[in-house]
Amino acid sequence: MIVTRFAPSPTGYLHIGGGRTALFNWLFAKHHQGKFLLRIEDTDRARSTDAAVDAILEGLKWLGLEWDGEAISQFQRKDRHAEVVAEMLANGTAYRCYCTPEELDAMREAQKAAGQQPRYDGRWRDRDPSEAPAGVAPAIRLKAPREGETVVKDHVQGEVRVQNSQLDDLILLRSDGTPTYLLAVVVDDHDMDVTHVVRGDDHLTNTFRQIQIYNAMGWKTPEFAHIPLIHGPDGAKLSKRHGALGIEAYRDMGFLPETMRNYLLRLGWGHGDAEIISTEQAIEWFTLEGIGRSPSRLDFAKMENLNAHYIREAEDARLVTLTTPFIEAKIGRALTDVEKDRLRRSIPGFKPRVKTLIELADGSLYLFAARPLAMDEKAGALLTAEVRGQIGALAAKFAEAGEWTAGALEAIVRDFAEANGLKLGKVAQPLRAALTGTTVSPPIFEVAEILGREESLSRLEDVKNHG
Ligand code: GLU
Repeated sequence: MIVTRFAPSPTGYLHIGGGRTALFNWLFAKHHQGKFLLRIEDTDRARSTDAAVDAILEGLKWLGLEWDGEAISQFQRKDRHAEVVAEMLANGTAYRCYCTPEELDAMREAQKAAGQQPRYDGRWRDRDPSEAPAGVAPAIRLKAPREGETVVKDHVQGEVRVQNSQLDDLILLRSDGTPTYLLAVVVDDHDMDVTHVVRGDDHLTNTFRQIQIYNAMGWKTPEFAHIPLIHGPDGAKLSKRHGALGIEAYRDMGFLPETMRNYLLRLGWGHGDAEIISTEQAIEWFTLEGIGRSPSRLDFAKMENLNAHYIREAEDARLVTLTTPFIEAKIGRALTDVEKDRLRRSIPGFKPRVKTLIELADGSLYLFAARPLAMDEKAGALLTAEVRGQIGALAAKFAEAGEWTAGALEAIVRDFAEANGLKLGKVAQPLRAALTGTTVSPPIFEVAEILGREESLSRLEDVKNHG
């Protein structure tokens, strides 16, 4: 069975690159009816926080990337990591190194002075343990091969190799008994039966060292796929300067999770020229070979266009649920059931017009505004004393409407405009101002229908009477 994993370090939110890595692992597992596991790499106690763990779990859930089984804490597995190192000591693939930090510093300085790459010179590799200085707790190092080469056959990068003479004997267990990151990752991936490691290509150099640990334990290495990083719209490596790095920022900007899945998929993976790819389709098509080799660039306009598509496709009731919190945050109170119903009936009018849930929330605020409506500048300017009189006359006609539908109301406005020798726009635009407090909205007769008879007439009365 195919087993993948996502292994974030909980030092901050789930960033967009992490979201993409998780997505690729999830899709690959789904494509093969395998398992997608989650491991929290919380061994760096100083930088790992519970809040970051929660943010990551929440981000993954929001993206719809559910993992199989319980999330695993790497830190809690530290005894198992130490146990493996004990096995390596026993089988002769690891050794104790008694160098003090001062000694290591001196080694590094001397190498630098001689124009060499600083690296551990292996001085305790073959030394007799009886020479161990008293009172120094040893670190445990891998007895890495010195000859030959280590090769990564990567599904994205191809065959990448390094001469073993270039790699020094890495530390497996620090002198305080804590496992190093490189060791922990290998032991965990092995114990979790991970078959495919899909991660950012910033980890490629770690892979050589990890393969050496697999070999030392006689374990089968997983397959690897190292994904190129994401760059900002300007082509530079993604950084804080580009803003909006956390997945939750996209949720808060009113993007739908299916938009993000589609967008992140296309960010570094392709299938012909397909741009709009549903999650079902993605599961069917996903292969590691479809991952591109060059870094991809964020393109916010493209993300918005995709979001507009998925908003059009979404069910009205779901959009109401998703938009309600945005509206409630803006108006500072909960929506009533009547208002939610108004919102639901207004959704079809918004679907062709909005790119984000925020635009939908903003556009719908007139539905929930307290009377008398606050007029924006343009709307206020339109409603002169004369125009307010005209609104009053129109309101009287509306009050007689047999049925309160967009069609019936439009007919009344047309008759009214004709009877008064006015162009339709000269009546419709002030009507829009009176009903919404703005000069832009979905089609105004639909707006009136959605507001309903009572609310519409009251708003028109307000305009007639106030000024
Ligand atoms: N914890 C690492 C990170 O967040 C990932 C390690 C891995 O995937 O092997 O970058």
